[in-house]
Amino acid sequence: MNLSDQLNNTALQHGEKTAYYFLDQSASYAELNGAVNKMANSLEAIGVKKGDHVGLLLGNSPHFIVSLYAALRIGATAVPINPIYTPDEIAYILRDGDVKAVVALDLLLPLIEKAHKALPGVGHYIVCETSQDTPERLEALNDEIKQKVTAFTHALASQSADYKGPQLDKDDTAVVLYTSGTTGKPKGAMLTHENIYSNAQDTADYLSIRREDRVIAALPMFHVFALTVVLNAPLMNGGTMIIIPRFSPKDVFEAAKKYEATVFAGVPTMYNFLLQYPDASRDDFKSVRLCISGGASLPVALLHSFEEKFNVQISEGYGLSEASPVTCFNPLDRERKAGSIGTSITNVENKIVNELGEELGAGEVGELIVRGPNVMKGYYKMPEETEAAIKDGWLYTGDLAKQDEEGYFFIVDRKKDMVIVGGYNVYPREVEEVLYNHEDIVEAAVVGVPDPDYGEAVQCFVVSKNPSLTKEEVVDYCSQHLAKYKLPTVVEFIEELPKNTTGKILRRALRDQIKPA
Ligand code: AMP
Repeated sequence: MNLSDQLNNTALQHGEKTAYYFLDQSASYAELNGAVNKMANSLEAIGVKKGDHVGLLLGNSPHFIVSLYAALRIGATAVPINPIYTPDEIAYILRDGDVKAVVALDLLLPLIEKAHKALPGVGHYIVCETSQDTPERLEALNDEIKQKVTAFTHALASQSADYKGPQLDKDDTAVVLYTSGTTGKPKGAMLTHENIYSNAQDTADYLSIRREDRVIAALPMFHVFALTVVLNAPLMNGGTMIIIPRFSPKDVFEAAKKYEATVFAGVPTMYNFLLQYPDASRDDFKSVRLCISGGASLPVALLHSFEEKFNVQISEGYGLSEASPVTCFNPLDRERKAGSIGTSITNVENKIVNELGEELGAGEVGELIVRGPNVMKGYYKMPEETEAAIKDGWLYTGDLAKQDEEGYFFIVDRKKDMVIVGGYNVYPREVEEVLYNHEDIVEAAVVGVPDPDYGEAVQCFVVSKNPSLTKEEVVDYCSQHLAKYKLPTVVEFIEELPKNTTGKILRRALRDQIKPA
């Protein structure tokens, strides 16, 4: 099965069912599938063929879903890009990813105008009109670029809702996802139809995402967590997406109530924002049966406070772009363990190994490696990096983890974030968990800093809701729960932690803030 046929199937089986709600609009599966066919015809009309790459520079909207599936349907590969990247970052991906055509938000027209000379490979732009003056702005473009631009509504309106596409193979690359890359240049993870299809279905089965579910899509759709869990998992089962253009607690609570959402998926920072939102009550999430967390570790204190306030279970899972992404989740039919990423989902194997690649026993910390139909084909045009990441079919995640006797995995930290204080390993996450337990601390992050005596020392950044909390009190609190070498030697109060659009804390940005001693 490929992703395009799967949507066709859902449209056949559940044609009248609502596929999505978006602001005050909605569309049935038959309507969504028809729009995908029109856009597929349109992409072909501008010369996009099987095997070409189509960039998606879009926010959360039906435009994203229609363009993604249209690209897949003609056998092209979609390259979703974070629309708030800088022009340089966007240009890098469009060039490196050999993108032939781009579907973009109208807000990015100035950027397109500036960048298009440096992007000779991009032959066409389809521009989504989100504001009333877009038609005039399209009209005002210089002639050279004007010939390359089509308005999204025109692209849809001019085409038939019937489409007969090429034969697709499950091993065709469906998506190239550029991972933010903590060092060096971003790498494009090539995910096949089978990678995404199997992972969406295995996750849906594991978490019982069904036709009756209405899933809040507040995670950014260009990110793999959204792509598989909130987009493909409901789509292949005839569920309904409630699309939130841009995450805000108010919009999430309002949409959850209005459309009687049953599933919410988010990263830990979203849970923190929802919890801190002053006007929210248990009633706002009354219809939600399941909350899903992933993308970063969910502090245990946050998990408990959230569950208590909203009377709903959070199931934490784990994944990474290279694994399409899900490898583990806390099961619904067995114990949910706070602080754990749960057990291996169906068809996916996880194991912990030492530096020599040997499997470790329960309780031992090592690198988490993963095998299954969800593991990427490789990095686009990067054979060496691919070889370093996938050995004997196992994907090396770069995350340190341990497993308990019952097969539950616990992420200890990222390998490269570990701090070594006088020869002792300190895992930032352990210190952060303690900080999150402090009643005044809203957010916390820990990084290593150079230390003349111990090699490295622990520094923490803390967002406090109590302006009179002192640094000494923070260290004193930690000392009640942690060994001496793990204690922060520097405490810095900060208004907000720097995060990327998927809510991951940018430790590099925090390290950059640290002035050399
Ligand atoms: P990305 O490829 O952008 O999705 O990032 C994947 C990385 O996010 C993983 O390698 C982990 O470091 C981190 N991650 C994802 N889920 C979790 C989790 N539940 N706990 C801790 N780290 C996580």
